[in-house]
Amino acid sequence: MYDKSLIELSSPGRTGFSLPDLPEQYNGPEDYLPLSVLRKDKPNLPELSEPEIVRHFIALSVKNHHIDKGIYPLGSCTMKYNPKVNEVTANLPGFTAAHPHAPADSVQGTLGLMFELENMLAAISGMDHITLQPAAGAHGEFAALLLMRAYHKKNKQNRQNIIIPDSAHGTNPASVALAGFNTIKVPSNDKGLVDIEKLAAVCDSDTAGFMLTNPNTLGFFEIDIEKIAAVIHDCGGLLYMDGANLNALLGLVRPGDMGFDIVHFNFHKTFSTPHGGGGPGGGALGIKSALEPFLPTPIIGRKTNKSNKVSYYLEYSRPDSIGRVHGFYGNVGVAIRAFTYILKHGPDGLKRIAKTAIINANYLMNKLKADYDLPYDSLCMHEFVLSGDRQLANGIKTTDIAKRILDFGIHAPTVYFPLIIHEAIMIEPTETESRESLDNFISVMKRIAGEVKDNPEIIKSAPNNTPVGRLDEAAAAKNMDVGW
Ligand SMILES: *Cc1c(COP(=O)(O)O)cnc(C)c1O
Repeated sequence: MYDKSLIELSSPGRTGFSLPDLPEQYNGPEDYLPLSVLRKDKPNLPELSEPEIVRHFIALSVKNHHIDKGIYPLGSCTMKYNPKVNEVTANLPGFTAAHPHAPADSVQGTLGLMFELENMLAAISGMDHITLQPAAGAHGEFAALLLMRAYHKKNKQNRQNIIIPDSAHGTNPASVALAGFNTIKVPSNDKGLVDIEKLAAVCDSDTAGFMLTNPNTLGFFEIDIEKIAAVIHDCGGLLYMDGANLNALLGLVRPGDMGFDIVHFNFHKTFSTPHGGGGPGGGALGIKSALEPFLPTPIIGRKTNKSNKVSYYLEYSRPDSIGRVHGFYGNVGVAIRAFTYILKHGPDGLKRIAKTAIINANYLMNKLKADYDLPYDSLCMHEFVLSGDRQLANGIKTTDIAKRILDFGIHAPTVYFPLIIHEAIMIEPTETESRESLDNFISVMKRIAGEVKDNPEIIKSAPNNTPVGRLDEAAAAKNMDVGW
């Protein structure tokens, strides 16, 4: 029954609402609207009762995997459980009913919250200023590159190159290209960290900046970060931290203290907003003072009048600003969720989040390294990368393993990334998984490693018990047919 669409389930006359009777003299919408804007036929809308609609969407929601249903160990993406209290605050009518064009004096609560959130992020990251405007990590990267260009231009320099490690997330070189810079790649050393000598060799007077993820995408903390910062600063470049992995550092160390000039935050990763459906997200930026004149507009200010009354305002008039990067003040709903999350946990709670994420990842890594290859075997932060090479030697590809994992009600880890690991399986459990959930994941991974030898057919045909089998992913993106 619930495999049908709402149109197919429709039954004439059924409704999910009750309204008062229409006035006797009412003839139709033409009483109120000009005929020229009225459609000729009635729209073909489904007619259903409220419980039918609710059951339809609940049935659909459990066909797909999601974090409220089970573990989602998608490396780099930080698919942690999102506390429901965030939804309660983000849905308070004072926030949801505010019009984006409302004058600042009528949305003092929202502006005050965003001002406070900026202060919290500055304290967490050790940066001097924050902008909440960018809508996602990649958007933050792009805005940061515009800041770098504006900074160098102000100093009468025309630097065109951005250095990126070979383990970087794909959005890094994409943002560099979009912002009109050139990418210079620097290789990792045998420990999976930045090769400092090779970095120094490519850093010169054309270097606008270095984009580095820390902990990096192999899950390792760049222990020589202060030396890296010195190399970049000595040649006049700016140091950018891709902060997608900040959940491993919360309350332990701060990018600002390591020498970073800019960092982006992924609200939908580190600070828990549901994500995976393409948004909305939040990619706030933290910057050092030298970049402050170039911040995107508007910025949120705070003033105190003679009778000590505090108020917040939006400032647009900033001559060196890179301009607007988002409509209004960014994705406010996501900022409210991040604010709630930070406030609820407090400094000690944030530190516990990072520590638990690190312990969970190391627990999984140590339990799984007998069954799968572990190319870089050292203490990891919040994630680690296995290789499916041993299984490939038996004819099972990493993609087959990923599909088999789905049969056990678990989302697959990230696969084939980072690019420098062959047959990569990148696992990030996050701090929100219990010991039992981690043990279940371990037993599934061990079972699959056994099946590679004993029952490879069941892996090759996987997924065997999901609503759909293996999809042609390229066709789905290229020949979109939603059946309308
Ligand atoms: C997720 C991620 C990004 C991009 O962030 P979005 O919010 O998805 O745009 C960049 N770098 C790393 C390391 C990431 O994990």
